[in-house]
Amino acid sequence: MDISGLNTIVIGAGIGGLTAALALRAKGAQVTVLEQAAEITEVGAGIQVSPNGFVVLKALGLGPEFEAVAVRGQAVELRDYRHGRLVTRLDLGLLDDDQPYFFVHRADLIDLLADAVRKAGIRVRLLQTVDRVDVGQAPVVHMTNGAKFSADLVIGADGLHSKLRPSLNGTSAPFFTRQVAWRATVPNVMDHPEIACVHMGPRQHLVSYPLRGGDLVNLVAVQERSEWADEGWAHTDDPDNVRAAFSGFGGMAAKCLAQVSEVGLWGLFRHPVAKVWHQDHCALLGDAAHPTLPFMAQGAVMAIEDAWVLADALGRAPDMEMGLARYQARRYSRVSKVVETASKNAWKYHLSFPPLRMAAHLGLRMGSAVAPE
Ligand code: FAD
Repeated sequence: MDISGLNTIVIGAGIGGLTAALALRAKGAQVTVLEQAAEITEVGAGIQVSPNGFVVLKALGLGPEFEAVAVRGQAVELRDYRHGRLVTRLDLGLLDDDQPYFFVHRADLIDLLADAVRKAGIRVRLLQTVDRVDVGQAPVVHMTNGAKFSADLVIGADGLHSKLRPSLNGTSAPFFTRQVAWRATVPNVMDHPEIACVHMGPRQHLVSYPLRGGDLVNLVAVQERSEWADEGWAHTDDPDNVRAAFSGFGGMAAKCLAQVSEVGLWGLFRHPVAKVWHQDHCALLGDAAHPTLPFMAQGAVMAIEDAWVLADALGRAPDMEMGLARYQARRYSRVSKVVETASKNAWKYHLSFPPLRMAAHLGLRMGSAVAPE
């Protein structure tokens, strides 16, 4: 199908929406992005981009810009929590040269994508909050301010609380996994920049990896607990709470935690993968279709993959119906497997009996080429 000139609306200027806008524009579509925020910016901290994500960024012509702002990972080390002793090490340098693994600040990735979007002549309308979408052959997007936009194709890349997803799937209740995560960036006090560490203890673990040329370290500290915490990335907490929760951690983990001056806290919830990703001329992408727990570091990368496959499937199919069906068919089982694996990974880091923890680490190492977020 020739999608040049196809009037396309992408809801959401997150990593998924911006990448989709670029991938569709590269095939000639006329793309408008609708974003609720006042500016395209990012409150998040770090993100890991595995080779499957980088290959898409490279194909979109963003490889050099991305490499300039990202840190190329050299290794992932699994360490025991008490003294930080090395348990095992996954040497990322063993990956082929064209399969690099990166750590990047989310704000830098968003800036890079937003800049590319502007250069590609894609229109971004800010302060546009979508209220609902009339799904159909000629979909209409209704804004909370009363405005309406019609399009040939509407992509819902509007994240966890997507306005399009319920129209295609109805509503579904996520459940609290009884795990919470703190997230912070701190000045780098690690012995080895360019190395990610997973510090594992009973019922909790802490992940650290470098950002911005190694000047910063991204920390994600996960703990099992029954006390409820809200879902979302914007809730702050007192830094002393994460220090108290991880007071048994020594070595570099303790040094990093001592540096925390601002920290976010979020509750980890499991969401089902949407069964229906498309209907008529509308489709879901990224977290709107498949939010995942952070234990595979693949949330953003799956959204990036979706974007590429969506544009590719549309470009190759005889018509839109077929293109969107092929998009879901090519993505559904891969994404479901990632979501499922991420859900299963947490327990492996949190085993109470050290030898079991070590065995599970080794199993993890063999089973996955990516470290947890
Ligand atoms: P999102 O990143 O959620 O982007 C959705 C976009 O849609 C947002 O810009 C939002 O403002 C916009 N939007 C939502 N509703 C509407 C509406 N009604 N009208 C108009 N616009 C709307 N993952 C990690 O792996 N590590 C992290 O550190 C991390 N931090 C995150 C921080 C934030 C603030 C967010 C939002 C997500 C974060 N995630 C993180 C999740 C991860 O980034 C996602 O898995 C991945 O980026 C999927 O991106 P997405 O574009 O599908 O959705």
